[in-house]
Amino acid sequence: MRLDKLLSNMGAGSRKEVKLLLKAGAIQVDGEIVRDPKQHVDVESQQVLMYGEPVTYQKYIYLMMNKPPGVISATEDKRDETVIDLLFEDVTYFKPFPVGRLDKDTEGLLLLTNDGAFNHALMSPKKHVEKTYYAEVTGVLTQEDVEAIAAGVTLEDGYQAKPGKLVILSTTETDSTLELTITEGKFHQVKRMMLALGKEVTFLKRRSIGRLELDSALALGDYRELTQEELSLFD
Ligand code: URA
Repeated sequence: MRLDKLLSNMGAGSRKEVKLLLKAGAIQVDGEIVRDPKQHVDVESQQVLMYGEPVTYQKYIYLMMNKPPGVISATEDKRDETVIDLLFEDVTYFKPFPVGRLDKDTEGLLLLTNDGAFNHALMSPKKHVEKTYYAEVTGVLTQEDVEAIAAGVTLEDGYQAKPGKLVILSTTETDSTLELTITEGKFHQVKRMMLALGKEVTFLKRRSIGRLELDSALALGDYRELTQEELSLFD
């Protein structure tokens, strides 16, 4: 890998800042000062020092994305754009993958990581991590629906969904908006739970996973690394 890319991946700064560090003679590879940003280094076998200190290698990456509709939560797809296609090279280097899935037409909070243990901790049904969705549906939700969701609705294939928390946000004569918190992540789960109430989801957005909320400053398709504080919400 190119030295400038490696250094910026390791958090030494932007490519521009890294260029300045190299120019200043701050970087050594195997004991030799290197000034050429294009020089190739082997991360496995060569030692890189910055001002005499080993550059600590960042192994894992944790991203939150505001997934836009129309893209697939997968690492590759033959037909459609994937969430990985939305990432820049400085993070694709880590080979992140989405933690769970959102449907193609669903928006909102999607985590991406290359940390298998983190993925497992969030996805394991035994961990009961709560996920909260905002949805718009056809039909008028009532208190009965709130109670049905709290008791656990039966889906069309006979599966008994675990109890969820339904909050009705607004209703008109024909439609409703709601927030639904569930601990499961079965295929089309929210849509199927709403269908069990005779309602059709027309818009779906994930707002939170556990205690982590989607950063409202992220536009659709944007992403950023989780802060240490955010990561510790999953400890
Ligand atoms: N439930 C759904 O129906 N779709 C999603 O994308 C996520 C939860």
